[in-house]
Amino acid sequence: MKKVGVECRNIRLSYGNTEVLKDINISIAPGEFFALLGPSGSGKSTLLRLIAGFNQHQHGQLLVDGRDISGVPPWDRNIGMVFQNYALWPHMTVWDNVAFGLVERKVPKAELRERVQAALELVGLADYAKRRPNHLSGGQQQRVALARTIVIEPQVLLLDEPLSNLDKKLRVQMRRELLALQRRLGITTIFVTHDQEEAMTTADRMAVLNHGVVQQLGSPANLFDFPSNRFVADFVGTMN
Ligand code: ADP
Ligand code: MG
Repeated sequence: MKKVGVECRNIRLSYGNTEVLKDINISIAPGEFFALLGPSGSGKSTLLRLIAGFNQHQHGQLLVDGRDISGVPPWDRNIGMVFQNYALWPHMTVWDNVAFGLVERKVPKAELRERVQAALELVGLADYAKRRPNHLSGGQQQRVALARTIVIEPQVLLLDEPLSNLDKKLRVQMRRELLALQRRLGITTIFVTHDQEEAMTTADRMAVLNHGVVQQLGSPANLFDFPSNRFVADFVGTMN
């Protein structure tokens, strides 16, 4: 699959009179695992939803593979998003949850079977196809949500705090799995988290967001060693 870059150019978004994203400039390289780190309310989800096409910015450009997709509706964007609460269908089996997007896209039966099977194997859930989500652990539900998104073969993967509902031990394990999967697929990924350790240990590069402003952007080591202001020092530093 083709690896694509994602670029936010001077993006601004307001809800009424409240400016939530203020002149965002972020350029994500093809195939990169990029973390967006910031405290609650800093605008992380808003930016992710904007890239997915669920939010519309009032100013600036959003480029994917060099093309401005600002006016393109979500279903034509080739971008997959995993939500914090997974948003699985409780009445449908794991198989049907993962197959859903392919059914909607009218993918032929034989191809659908192959792709769903491959996606379930990729996340280690091939034996759980007939279960329902509420009979699975939190980690397994998270894997279903991942499988359901990657089965679409999106060019960009957006993850909104995908591990925050899991306990600490599982979070660390899933973090590794997620990164291994991303490396295997080579898919450009934006990983949103408020957990500095999670960002520091996974990301190729990261941006720290506060009050809708990118405070700093760089490699985890770069931000840790050379924080550009007090907020970044406090937030990514050992003081946390
Ligand atoms: P984060 O994901 O970093 O916690 P959000 O992007 O969810 O932050 O929210 C950023 C700010 O935008 C918050 O102050 C929040 O209250 C506000 N906000 C988010 N969604 C809406 C909305 N639909 N209408 C009005 N304000 C919103
Ligand atoms: Mg959020």
